Amino acid sequence: MTTQAGARLLEGAPIADEIRTGVAAGVAAFEAANGRPPGLAVVVCGRSAPSMVYLERILKACAQVGIAGRLVDVPGDDPATQAAALTAALHELNADDTVSGIIVQMPLPAGIGLKVVVDAIDPAKDIDGIHPLNAGLLRLGFEGFVPATAHAALEMLARSGATVAGAEAVVIGRSPVVGMPVASMLVKGGATVTVCHSRTRDLAAHTRTADILIVAAGVPGLVTGAMLKPGAVVIDVGINVVDGHLVGDVDFASASEVAAAITPVPGGVGPLTNALLLAHLVRAAQRQATERSDPAAQGDA
Ligand code: NAP
Repeated sequence: MTTQAGARLLEGAPIADEIRTGVAAGVAAFEAANGRPPGLAVVVCGRSAPSMVYLERILKACAQVGIAGRLVDVPGDDPATQAAALTAALHELNADDTVSGIIVQMPLPAGIGLKVVVDAIDPAKDIDGIHPLNAGLLRLGFEGFVPATAHAALEMLARSGATVAGAEAVVIGRSPVVGMPVASMLVKGGATVTVCHSRTRDLAAHTRTADILIVAAGVPGLVTGAMLKPGAVVIDVGINVVDGHLVGDVDFASASEVAAAITPVPGGVGPLTNALLLAHLVRAAQRQATERSDPAAQGDA
């Protein structure tokens, strides 16, 4: 992590490299023990350009660490046939022992609800934590699969050296994939947590109390330096395209004058997300192998 005038810059790439090294070792050990690498299936309903870039990056990252990644195209011309084909594809992947983890392209096409995925995906292969069983395990404080982005935000916070227990933490965003799991993890870590959203009346009044601020709104420039408590640790999860450039939800220039530490966009939480997704995949593969060899060990791994 580099230092600049004002806030310490929390960079994702070096942490992601470290995680990938651990993943590659886990993949090699799994392959040595099982005679095949862990497999990731990336399920796609219609190849819309922005998410394809993200998915192709994941498949490339799989290849770099030895994971067998594959793209599964779901056919269908209308939402009803496509939803049925998606369900069938997920059932097939659930039953395939060479597939250790499954992720589904988001957002789904219009007319196909998330419930189609949730009803079909095996929670043991749900490495991005969208299944209610995994969300419920997190809420109850047990081990499950946490959405990789939320995990990345918390990992970044942990690496910042910030003390979570006893801290005032503010999360902007209440989505099931980022805001709410982040809030649950902060509560588990002992922070006092406020969750803000689009109906919050005075956002700045809340953010100014935050020792830890995690922003996941998808609104460029939502948080400025004037809205921060001096010395806050700021984790910017937002990804927005403005004038052809990627920017976060935090106005970096003003915020870095006030914060003690801050993540850049790009280069902060983003690189960590993919690396952690692969780490989740290796964990899923190891659990499934343990359960196959010793069914009584279910849930222990
Ligand atoms: P989302 O489902 O659209 O949720 C956005 C949340 O922000 C909602 O809870 C919304 O409130 C709240 N919000 C919107 N405008 C607000 C405002 N003006 N003031 C306060 N709160 C506001 O988005 P998401 O999937 O959680 O993603 C959030 C951001 O993270 C996006 O920029 C996305 O691109 C980014 N992201 C990054 C990664 C990564 O790897 N770094 C991965 C996934 C997503 P309501 O609930 O009231 O509508």
